[in-house]
Amino acid sequence: MGEVKRQLAMVMDLNKCIGCQTCTISCKRLWTRDEGMEYMWWNSVNTMPGLGTPKDWEQMGGGFRDGQPNASRIPTRKEFGDAWEFNHEEVFFGGKGSEAHLQVKGEQPEWGPNWDEDQGAGEYPNGYYFYLPRICNHCTHPACLEACPRQAIEKREQDGIVLINEDRCRGYRFCMEACPYKKIYWNHVQKVAQKCIFCFPRIEQGVANACARQCPGRVRFVGYRDDQNGPIWKLVDKYKVALPLHSEFGTEPNVFYVPPLAPPRFDANGEIDENQPRIPNEYLVSLFGPRVLEVLATLKGEMTKTRAGQKSEVLDILIAYKWKDMFGGFDRDPASIEWKKT
Ligand code: SF4
Ligand code: SF4
Ligand code: SF4
Repeated sequence: MGEVKRQLAMVMDLNKCIGCQTCTISCKRLWTRDEGMEYMWWNSVNTMPGLGTPKDWEQMGGGFRDGQPNASRIPTRKEFGDAWEFNHEEVFFGGKGSEAHLQVKGEQPEWGPNWDEDQGAGEYPNGYYFYLPRICNHCTHPACLEACPRQAIEKREQDGIVLINEDRCRGYRFCMEACPYKKIYWNHVQKVAQKCIFCFPRIEQGVANACARQCPGRVRFVGYRDDQNGPIWKLVDKYKVALPLHSEFGTEPNVFYVPPLAPPRFDANGEIDENQPRIPNEYLVSLFGPRVLEVLATLKGEMTKTRAGQKSEVLDILIAYKWKDMFGGFDRDPASIEWKKT
């Protein structure tokens, strides 16, 4: 791996994600429509707390511990949720009228890409949940790359995007085992490992990633880590309100999250207890590390400021008044480009 000169990154503001899956579908329509990719969702959005995609991925190991590769395993297609087959023919062309309804054909699924949608945790009236969108983190220390004996995984010098060279891949799947985020899929038809490419053909034309550009919640910021005029540097380094997910996995992810604020809890008398957070601190710490509590305090402080009529640059960035400001210069209209089919 040559020296990475610049690193592209994404910040996702979890306070604005509405779980609509537009990101998921925009990625699917663009990149995972070939044979063997039916079950792939390079972008996934899961309800938290939940077991996620693949099922219980946070407990599968991988990444690094004390600087050494940490044991793990390859998730199964079923754990990812597989691709369900439906009786479309019967419903739409079978002539059965309202007697036929849409259902999964054959073996009934036991898990899916967003199986525990909106379940969350906590008891009434203190239930809570939030959405967690995930893509490959294009890590600075990618466990997938280190695990590949074929040197089939590259981290690009110019922007740090991590790509699998499918011509070199021989299907050993050590990358799938090593990635602690379980963001690599096995194409069982083409016999290669595949994953999010950070939309590099768009990036090379100055167009933001499809999952970011199509997001109606204005959740996703894109740009170079070191661009001091862009949103990434400001949110991660200047205001320090965006954190990596499971940094203890040791891969130094380049996707960062603004953690979710939540209303306070109701006490036993049904009164609001301002001192008790609805989402338990321990849970957020388990995802984003101990600094998450400082971040939540910063965000609350900024909200107090704006309510008192003062200005807050960090909230202005997060609100994203100007949509194109979210994309760190990658704001070209994809419709203005003549795309070549590769
Ligand atoms: Fe919808 Fe955006 Fe959340 Fe994706 S990240 S689910 S597009 S709001
Ligand atoms: Fe590799 Fe996983 Fe990091 Fe992506 S998230 S670069 S697949 S280790
Ligand atoms: Fe898919 Fe591009 Fe988003 Fe990666 S960056 S999840 S390839 S849309």
